[in-house]
Amino acid sequence: MTANLQNPIFTDETKAREWLEARVWPNGPVCPHCGATGDDVTALNGKAHRPGLYQCSQCREQFTVTVKTVFERSKIPLSKWLAALFLLTASKKGVSAHQVHRSLGISYKSSWFMMHRLREALRSDSKGQLGGPGKIVEADETFIVNKKGAPVRTGYAHKMAVMSLVERDGPIRSVVLDRVNRMEVNRVIRRNVHAESRLMTDAAAYYKARNRFGIAEHEKVNHDQGEYVHGDVHVNTLEGYYSIFKRGMKGVYQHCSEQHLHRYVSEFDFRYNTRTRLGFNDLMRAEKAAEGIKGKRLTYRRPAKLAQSPAN
Ligand SMILES: [Zn+2]
Repeated sequence: MTANLQNPIFTDETKAREWLEARVWPNGPVCPHCGATGDDVTALNGKAHRPGLYQCSQCREQFTVTVKTVFERSKIPLSKWLAALFLLTASKKGVSAHQVHRSLGISYKSSWFMMHRLREALRSDSKGQLGGPGKIVEADETFIVNKKGAPVRTGYAHKMAVMSLVERDGPIRSVVLDRVNRMEVNRVIRRNVHAESRLMTDAAAYYKARNRFGIAEHEKVNHDQGEYVHGDVHVNTLEGYYSIFKRGMKGVYQHCSEQHLHRYVSEFDFRYNTRTRLGFNDLMRAEKAAEGIKGKRLTYRRPAKLAQSPAN
């Protein structure tokens, strides 16, 4: 199956549903209410039922593939959800709600909600530590210009800071911080980096204290003195990541408010963690994203308790 716009899952509701079912239920339908599988679940066929409806004989509830997912109770056709998912995961710098609104012929309000729900699907639940014995982990932070266009790098009191940790040639994990200071940096590193890693940072004040983070080795490059690479010591992996992130935040997502920054961070982290160099293509990336719709709901009627980054 191809991952381009010719794919029938972007126009045919049945094909879209079957594609999604195969991603969400790789081993056959699972009742989202009680977890029953196999013979306990029966497809309800025939004209009396809407397509894709299943009956659970254990808890007697009925369900479809979208129950208890970010697609639940949406009036948007599944084929359009999948098209939006492909656009979002295949575009290196992201895709705006305005673009999705125009490309898919849905209202801007709908596309805005859709995109935030899709970002929730991209959010990683991974809680394992990055790095390991002898492995390199880079740590760095960047500051995002806020909605009013004012630069926010004004000491410790700014609001829009993103801190990232990346295992060299491996995954990335970024968190939004209310403030960047030694305590916060220490907390994030201790929680997310394996103690036997080689930690690499720049010489910013919050990285200065020796062995503060309980990491085996902490090596620094001093950007202020023009030092960017010293042997294999550098934070260039994160510099490259931030360059894409900032181009996306500035060029595509022009009006990001602080309230939603963590969602955009999840989106950019997801694409980085499914990048071509790790063996992913556009279709595999979308498949992985579709697996992430489970157990996450984002209705905006209730305060989004689910929206906290697990790494933060
Ligand atoms: Zn059940």
